[in-house]
Amino acid sequence: MLVVMQAHASDEQVRAVCDRIESLGLKPHPIPGSTRTAIGVTGNKGAIDLGVLESMPGVVECIPVSKPYKLVSRDVKEEDTIVRIPTPLGEVAFGGQSVGMVAGPCAVESLDQSLAIAERIAAAGVKLFRGGAYKPRTSPYSFQGLGEPGLQVLAKVRERFGLGIITEAVDNESLDLVEQYADVIQIGARNMQNFSLLKRAGRAKKPVLLKRGMSATLDEFLMAAEYIMAEGNYNVILCERGVRTFSDFTRNTLDLSVIPAVKKRSHLPIVVDPSHGTGRRHKVLPLSRAGIAAGADGLLVEVHHQPDRALSDGMQSILPDEFDQLVAEVRQIAAVLHRVLN
Ligand code: PEP
Ligand code: MN
Repeated sequence: MLVVMQAHASDEQVRAVCDRIESLGLKPHPIPGSTRTAIGVTGNKGAIDLGVLESMPGVVECIPVSKPYKLVSRDVKEEDTIVRIPTPLGEVAFGGQSVGMVAGPCAVESLDQSLAIAERIAAAGVKLFRGGAYKPRTSPYSFQGLGEPGLQVLAKVRERFGLGIITEAVDNESLDLVEQYADVIQIGARNMQNFSLLKRAGRAKKPVLLKRGMSATLDEFLMAAEYIMAEGNYNVILCERGVRTFSDFTRNTLDLSVIPAVKKRSHLPIVVDPSHGTGRRHKVLPLSRAGIAAGADGLLVEVHHQPDRALSDGMQSILPDEFDQLVAEVRQIAAVLHRVLN
């Protein structure tokens, strides 16, 4: 349910409604807008008696939200959410007029490797570095990531170049650590429906980048984001990273048609990962262009200075020179759409 407040409702009135919602055993989620505040209500198993809230000072109306996802929905918040990530190099924003850029190796392999790649990413004018310290791998015999020492490498990257850090948490234990080191917590495709992890991410104080499961429907994807928001973390960035289809010439099929579908249903920003979405280096640039043209709020690209030696995902990692070209082209495409790459 959504409680719509009057444009001039005071903070006290908003607070009083939130207190009342809590006293009913429900959870209030105040959503400030440009003209008025709305309060999302979750936790109800059935219909709530709307009269109790509707008669309170400052309340315009109570609207039942019939969609299974509520906080994620545009019905609850009409304006685009802009997720802002402060980094030592300055803020990076995803959503609205801002297109955010994230790049780095699939995995943190060593300090030298990460510094070499980070140097080129910072030189390209990008402020967010992504590398996995915990890697969810199909085979238990594949490189699983360096764990906490990998997070310490990321801390050095942050310190040396001022880059903000995005890294994946694979379970509740790693999330405790990732939350301390990262500026953004990544939840990977394989964990999109790991509900205890989603709830834990919802209690984290850092923004979350949520990847679409490889066979997830749009509703399932949005419901996963709802899990995070229902716990009180409203800084969620969605990420399309390709789904499994019968196409046999790509690792996954990058579902760019999900971007306008998400935009229609949700206010959350969505970025595109053309690296996992295609699995092949030569497809990353064309699909990056297409993703931005289709309205994505950012890109997440795997870059490696020695892809032939990469411990994971070398085949889809582009070289730093190719990344420079990608940034330059995508900047121009964003400008055509009156958007700014940051
Ligand atoms: C990754 O980002 O390196 C990764 C493992 O991606 P996904 O969860 O999309 O497979
Ligand atoms: Mn990868």
